[in-house]
Amino acid sequence: MNLPGPSQSEYSFIMAGGGMSGLSLAYYLAKSSLQKESILIISQDEIGFPKKTWCYWSEEEESFDKIANKSWQHLWFHEAQGTSKLLAIQPFTYSKISSDTWFTHVVDELKKHPNIHFLKANIHQFSYAGCGSTVHTSRGNFHARHKIFDSITPIFCEAANEKHIKQHFLGWTIQSNFPIFKDESAHLFDFRVAFEKECEFMYVLPTSNREALFEYTYFSGKIRTKEQYREKIKNYLLAYYNLSHEEYEIIEEEYGIIPMRPSSLPPQNLHDKILRIGTSGGFVKPSTGYSFLRTQHLLTDLIKNLESKNLNGLMIPENRFKAWLDKVFLQVLIDQHVAGNEVFEALFRKNNPQKMLRFLAEKTSWKEDLGLMTTVPTMPFLRAVISLAWRKNQLP
Ligand SMILES: Cc1cc2nc3c(=O)[nH]c(=O)nc-3n(C[C@H](O)[C@H](O)[C@H](O)COP(=O)(O)OP(=O)(O)OC[C@H]3O[C@@H](n4cnc5c(N)ncnc54)[C@H](O)[C@@H]3O)c2cc1C
Repeated sequence: MNLPGPSQSEYSFIMAGGGMSGLSLAYYLAKSSLQKESILIISQDEIGFPKKTWCYWSEEEESFDKIANKSWQHLWFHEAQGTSKLLAIQPFTYSKISSDTWFTHVVDELKKHPNIHFLKANIHQFSYAGCGSTVHTSRGNFHARHKIFDSITPIFCEAANEKHIKQHFLGWTIQSNFPIFKDESAHLFDFRVAFEKECEFMYVLPTSNREALFEYTYFSGKIRTKEQYREKIKNYLLAYYNLSHEEYEIIEEEYGIIPMRPSSLPPQNLHDKILRIGTSGGFVKPSTGYSFLRTQHLLTDLIKNLESKNLNGLMIPENRFKAWLDKVFLQVLIDQHVAGNEVFEALFRKNNPQKMLRFLAEKTSWKEDLGLMTTVPTMPFLRAVISLAWRKNQLP
């Protein structure tokens, strides 16, 4: 998977970071009226690494639906105390794309454009002067006439700080020695593994009757050693599928720590010469840790603004109420006055799955949001609201 190396030191646009958001943006630029502009993508990793799985749900047709490895319209929700529900989510589809497939597709498109180049290098810093901005790398400096899109600057979320909530997980794609999985439905939340106040669950995506991804996931502040997540997966396979370690092969392992914190960046618009995108730009929805689809939507809007020279267009549309709801939810997870699973269980018990999926994707109206708030455990949420108000809506 490669693109031509740089042939000049000045470009119209520079993507600092060649992961999901940097390459998505290059892809949309290449398909826009700005496709003749020169683009340099700089990244410390080869394109396509590290490998991951991206999932998203939508009720509309999305840019990468055609390359999804698998889609489902039925999702299991398992409560901690043993009640399990199979949710029919039509018109929504829950889709899975492996990063291998996605990067190949995107790079094939970018290769059609000789003005798009790639450099494997470490970025040290950015600098800004009146006529543009510069990326300083281990392999020289590169000047951007229009914009630098930065997806490398980390957002403030400390791994060791237990009050900084993260989605942390380790996943195994396994192949069993015999057919055992039912691939017509995925398991979005399996809380049968949750015994503590921390929000923890297993997430299972079967792609055939012998292959499935098992991801042991926490929405919490306390990171575990990799061996601890592995142990949880092993135990789960034994408990719920009666599969011992000799009966399957681990084909791939993925690991992630995704910050579940609102970005403290001031609102960005196209007047800025250096713009932050992706996780770095606050594209992750803080209360879910998902960002793949949101990134596609935000970057498509960004291109429209660039094409129409609407410099005032905001990178992330402001919605203070939804941002506040996210903070309240995160505060509930920090406080642990209620177990994380009980919050999701109450929401999914009292609301239909379509409404929940719209809510989690920020597609519900404020009236619907208020209605949903009457279905969460009241006292822990009230305490979170008070605690946030006390600190002027700042999370610890
Ligand atoms: C294992 C995993 C699974 C995920 N699954 C999902 C999912 O199912 N659904 C979902 O919505 N979200 C998911 N996410 C969250 C999110 O979609 C991904 O993390 C996504 O890759 C974020 O895109 P990004 O462009 O912000 O960062 P990245 O894709 O990580 O790209 C950043 C790039 O910057 C480069 N870089 C960093 N520092 C430097 C430097 N100093 N110099 C040069 N280059 C540098 C890196 O090499 C990398 O290529 C997942 C995350 C992980 C880790």
